[in-house]
Amino acid sequence: MQLLNGKDVAAFHRQRIVQQIQEVREKRGIEPELSIVVVGDDAPSAMYAASMQKTARSVGLKAAIYRQEANIGEADLLALIDRLNDDVSVFGILLMMPLPESFDSQRIINRIDPSKDVDGLTDANIARLCTGRPGFVPCTPRAVMAILDYYHLSLSGKEVVIIGRSTVVGKPLSQLCLQQNATVTVCHSRTKDLKAVCQRADVIMAAAGRAGLVTGDMIKPGAVVIDVGINRVEGKTVGDVAFEDAALFAGSITPVPGGVGAVTTMMILENVVCGIARTETIS
Ligand code: NAD
Repeated sequence: MQLLNGKDVAAFHRQRIVQQIQEVREKRGIEPELSIVVVGDDAPSAMYAASMQKTARSVGLKAAIYRQEANIGEADLLALIDRLNDDVSVFGILLMMPLPESFDSQRIINRIDPSKDVDGLTDANIARLCTGRPGFVPCTPRAVMAILDYYHLSLSGKEVVIIGRSTVVGKPLSQLCLQQNATVTVCHSRTKDLKAVCQRADVIMAAAGRAGLVTGDMIKPGAVVIDVGINRVEGKTVGDVAFEDAALFAGSITPVPGGVGAVTTMMILENVVCGIARTETIS
């Protein structure tokens, strides 16, 4: 059984990102910024924003957090996004989710300039992904593909079963797998007989947010198992895959923690670098 180590994949990408940012600073004399917008006091969002800022700074990017009160009006929030859209030193805008319930999240997200939407959540970037045109792709699905790529695991002609159909993980992941010529099945909470569907998979990608959902008896011997899930159980972080049991059957498997999550943040930073590279070719 091969352990797919997200930390190694992250380190590989990190090295390239650091180099590219250094080059931009030296050649163009600019301080590229990643702007992180946090609205309200959702604790996981605040934690994610702080950790994103720390990682961004560690690769040489300027990272600023714009904290806004939960009761900020829509017009003021849109005005902040407009200001960041217009700021030429800002190369990426991250809007922490979830927004307070009073907001129509997608309406706010769509105000982000698609060329700065490093999370790939605007309708424009989602459309680009679905039609196979270049654009920003959400970071978690990109992290999954980065792991497969790093370990030379091809999806061409493979039966891929994705568990979860969210806009940020399951759906974009299905598009990326189709681009790699996989035969893709997307399962969800209403799927009947998940076990039978999984048993025919060459690759299982679990993104349901249900600890222990995927067990060894659902895995075809030798299959690749990618665990996107992050769950807290009895004070521990675990995935959607019952790791010990699944590892007896899987050919390759990602751990949690230390798997997909370790690569996700790097993919956001890589998107920022891609944005910088794009402006370089324009100017
Ligand atoms: P979500 O709640 O938006 O979507 C969950 C999906 O799973 C839904 O489509 C639902 O139909 C499906 N589902 C739920 N229970 C199921 C079941 N019993 N059988 C089959 N399908 C089922 O969640 P999300 O935002 O897509 O995140 C999914 C998981 O991935 C969560 O654990 C989340 O914490 C994790 N996540 C990890 C990263 C990372 O970097 N590793 C990033 C984002 C999300």
